[in-house]
Amino acid sequence: MNDVIILGAGPAGMTAAIYCARKQLNVKVLTTDVGGQTLWSGGIENYLGFDYIKGSDLVDKFEKHLKNFKVDMVYKTAATIVDSRDGWAVEDGDGHKHQAHTIIIATGKSPRQLGVSGEDKFRGRGVTYCATCDAPLFAGSDVAVVGGGNSGVEAALQLADIAAKVYLIESDPELTADEVLEDKVYDHKNVEVLTGTTVTGIDGDILLESLDINADGRPRRLAVTGVFVEIGLTPNSAIVKGLVKLNETGEIVVDRSGRTSRPGIFAAGDVTDEPAKQIIIAAGDGARAALTAYDYLLYLV
Ligand SMILES: Cc1cc2nc3c(=O)[nH]c(=O)nc-3n(C[C@H](O)[C@H](O)[C@H](O)COP(=O)(O)OP(=O)(O)OC[C@H]3O[C@@H](n4cnc5c(N)ncnc54)[C@H](O)[C@@H]3O)c2cc1C
Repeated sequence: MNDVIILGAGPAGMTAAIYCARKQLNVKVLTTDVGGQTLWSGGIENYLGFDYIKGSDLVDKFEKHLKNFKVDMVYKTAATIVDSRDGWAVEDGDGHKHQAHTIIIATGKSPRQLGVSGEDKFRGRGVTYCATCDAPLFAGSDVAVVGGGNSGVEAALQLADIAAKVYLIESDPELTADEVLEDKVYDHKNVEVLTGTTVTGIDGDILLESLDINADGRPRRLAVTGVFVEIGLTPNSAIVKGLVKLNETGEIVVDRSGRTSRPGIFAAGDVTDEPAKQIIIAAGDGARAALTAYDYLLYLV
């Protein structure tokens, strides 16, 4: 029986694991990958201690740090969580059961993808899912933003001050963002809004070079080096649906200490209703959830 099972090894899960191990807890991490969304970031300029670091290099450093501690790593996706005697049982995709007194959910979010050819190949080489993080890497370039809702229009506004030219692409006949944002975007001379337009493919050599679009059956190729996909993120919370309280967007509702609505289940990072989705915040959340789980265990036994 473990004291804690942590689901996910992004910044939240890895930090939680280190904090649990330093408290001498018997800790297991079940995870689909090591690194989570940080692996998707081409370059990070806002993590304390690093002026600039590639996402994959930061993950290597996190993982190396984690290996200093006694943490049982299981590289499997968690499929279900059920109430069991003295705690919880997590079943992985292979049907194996893992038991613990407490669980920390740190399963993050997954960006919705376009699902067009070239998207996987050029991820991190021009295709990005986070304008806040990656916009500065495209200073002076021609780029496209896909998605005409609030996040897409906000991304286009951010990029308008940095990039040479911004194409804002929306499949609906109109943008679907707040009017105040739409007004602002139409004021920018270097933003071309293309509504009623779908993306059909992404192309390039080593790096991304072009985006194929189609409007009313008329294909067009845009020469861009960056494509910002802003069509939403999905919290990876399906595993706790019906078990803990979720908000209307499917995020796990937590209190200031990382407690969910269910005693013994804690959550941290992007999967929660914490509004700011950043690495440093997810890491802090992971630390907090681990310390709260530790306190909970003190009173349990
Ligand atoms: C392209 C991109 C660039 C970004 N750039 C920056 C940046 O420059 N600076 C910044 O601060 N933030 C950036 N972010 C945001 C940042 O990456 C996230 O806020 C942070 O990674 C959230 O950490 P997390 O641990 O909560 O979740 P995640 O990083 O999403 O990690 C979740 C973990 O859970 C695992 N998992 C999911 N489901 C299951 C399951 N059922 N069972 C087991 N494991 C599971 C995943 O494999 C993963 O290991 C960026 C995000 C993206 C997408």
